[in-house]
Amino acid sequence: MIPFIDLHAQRQELKCGIDNAIAKVLDHGHFISGPEVEELEEKLSAFTKAKHCITCGNGTDALQLVLMAEDVGPGDAIFVPAFTFVASGEVVPPTGARLVFVDVQSDTFLIDPASLEVAIDDARQTGLCPRMVIAVDIFGMPADYDILGKICRKNDMILVADAAQSFGSTYHKRVAGTLADYTTTSFFPAKPLGCYGDGGAVFTDHEDKAELIKSFSVHGKGKFKYDNVRVGINSRLDTIQAAILLEKLKIFPQEIEVRQAVSSRYSTSLADLVEVPVVPDDRISAWAQYTIKTDDREGLQASCKKAGIPTVVYYPRPLHRQTGYFQERTVRTGLAVSEMLCEKVLSLPMHPYLDDTTQSEIIKSVRDFLSGR
Ligand SMILES: *Cc1c(COP(=O)(O)O)cnc(C)c1O
Repeated sequence: MIPFIDLHAQRQELKCGIDNAIAKVLDHGHFISGPEVEELEEKLSAFTKAKHCITCGNGTDALQLVLMAEDVGPGDAIFVPAFTFVASGEVVPPTGARLVFVDVQSDTFLIDPASLEVAIDDARQTGLCPRMVIAVDIFGMPADYDILGKICRKNDMILVADAAQSFGSTYHKRVAGTLADYTTTSFFPAKPLGCYGDGGAVFTDHEDKAELIKSFSVHGKGKFKYDNVRVGINSRLDTIQAAILLEKLKIFPQEIEVRQAVSSRYSTSLADLVEVPVVPDDRISAWAQYTIKTDDREGLQASCKKAGIPTVVYYPRPLHRQTGYFQERTVRTGLAVSEMLCEKVLSLPMHPYLDDTTQSEIIKSVRDFLSGR
């Protein structure tokens, strides 16, 4: 069976370095806030050129910490695309703020600025304060931060980039991490830069906010751990995970390169038969997923399965159609594109260790089905 994401191949590649890095942590014994955590934060800051990097427990906590730092609460409206993983939105309702779902664009799957502007207007008319946009770099591609930044500045709103899937991507030659007021990411194993458990980080250039986030992530600490100057949470990146990430970061830029080759081979081989993902000229995707659109998804998926090729539907249901989110708000112009995408999208195996022979097999299988052979 072909793996959907081959973490085993990467493990073989990095075995020695990672085993040594873990052994070092086991020997020094600083499992929480050990020296590797600080080293990783420095390296990630350098990699993204963000002034501050605060690691935390996972990508969902990273978003929650941003909401805490901005004191989001009742009366605020927070805008999130309906076509995303649930974590992008789930951090909002517990704060008492209103979650407002916005539609996406059908070619890029990214938040639609026109829909966003309507939603901001809706919110204002109903007495809410438009506070924040959580733009999601879905499948690894950065949203259009120039346009989103303009909309946010005009409305005095905060722009957050949920870069859980796009770490390592670039927009106008800038690496994800400095494209919004805050950037959050996840080191969940299957993300472009993944550890061997849960992990996440927040990036920002605001020094005061970075300090606040650091404090919130360690029980609202002040000068030291038992000085609790605010109500915080417990969200730290384990030292072992930081040590693993330091090793993986060494080859991460090459992996991003290889992902470009894999995705472009898919696109040249499939574009005549199916809608392949669109990447605007000003961006490089981190290719967390390679996602096509087809009218006969069930058929294609079944046919691939028979050939031993795994495919996954990201995502089968938009957030406003999830039971837990029925009471949240939606933009008045509707979420037709998000709904349509959930019917048509299918993601193919995508990772930097996909060899030519295996990819040819996948391409042949997809082509055979789509051309009715
Ligand atoms: C994975 C993911 C998250 C959450 O990351 P965790 O580390 O699993 O908490 C948030 N947003 C998006 C878009 C994701 O894909």
